[in-house]
Amino acid sequence: MRESVIVVGGDTRILASNHAAYNAFARNNGVLEDKRLSEVVRDLSLHEAFRKALEEAVSTDIELEIPGVERRKYDVHIAPIEFDKSKGAIGIFYDITQIERLERVRQEFLSNVSHELRTPLTSILAFVETLEDGAINDEENNQRFLGVIRKNAQRMHHLIDDILELSFIESGSIALEPKRVNLHSLTEEVFTNLSSKAKEFRIKLKNEVPKETYVFADTVRLEQMLTNLVDNAVKFNTKSGIVTVSLAKDDDKDIISIADTGEGISAEHLQRIFERFYRTDRARSREIGGTGLGLAIVKHLARLHGGEVSVNSTLGKGSTFSIELPQKQ
Ligand code: ADP
Repeated sequence: MRESVIVVGGDTRILASNHAAYNAFARNNGVLEDKRLSEVVRDLSLHEAFRKALEEAVSTDIELEIPGVERRKYDVHIAPIEFDKSKGAIGIFYDITQIERLERVRQEFLSNVSHELRTPLTSILAFVETLEDGAINDEENNQRFLGVIRKNAQRMHHLIDDILELSFIESGSIALEPKRVNLHSLTEEVFTNLSSKAKEFRIKLKNEVPKETYVFADTVRLEQMLTNLVDNAVKFNTKSGIVTVSLAKDDDKDIISIADTGEGISAEHLQRIFERFYRTDRARSREIGGTGLGLAIVKHLARLHGGEVSVNSTLGKGSTFSIELPQKQ
């Protein structure tokens, strides 16, 4: 069974335990049998619960936290039992570490979403009020105020699209249709779609993938990954910078690189930029139309392909994002 089970006799020595208990509590102590419970788990409330079961025949439920690098949390049910006419106690440990972590992630996500939506909404309401208070007749500014309202509404729209997309991908309900994809042509397509943005930021787009080069992927999803990464490479570049897409082949992997000549990402941020809503400069990302979800989407899509995405960056020089895709066997 998945739950850890420990049975102790009247002297609190362990009489029996299952494999899950061994994995959870034995660590360097070897087998659990014949050891005192206190040698295996040091926790006062747990010992008190076992004592109650042994001496007062009372069942108890407690929460147990095992500190350490791999902190774990358990819901434990302790009850008296009788076997061979002698009395003992049994503890069943339900590991709730993962459930708690997921609950925390869910709460964080909700609070992030609310925060991200509130910012543009506050701005929209403020400008509507300004217009209502008379600015609607202010010929010089009324169009500009409407423009700000439109921009913020678009931002909310974009954010909701990205949230829905991410939750769709994360729920595992997308079916990939991997096939041979011409990477040179796909890169050209992505460049064409982003050409006006590149022009606006004065960025040169370089396709270094040789013609007739193929990778094995779902075309739509690979285009989505490339678009997100090239879009970032344009946005976070320096003026007149360069974005280069290239391909390297490893033993059994294709590695697509998207390199920019931008500001780079410092080590403290590098670990976290693939997290949802994580941005090195929140205000700036919002200003240039970012939702903070693009890289999280890329990460999930790469993993759905059985691949991975990673980044190398040097401050002041630029960043290179790499999508690894397994080659078709
Ligand atoms: P968004 O671009 O919408 O802000 P992303 O998830 O795509 O969200 O990226 C998260 C953050 O990672 C960005 O806000 C930025 O701080 C950083 N980042 C992503 N790509 C680059 C890049 N090529 N150069 C520098 N920083 C980047």
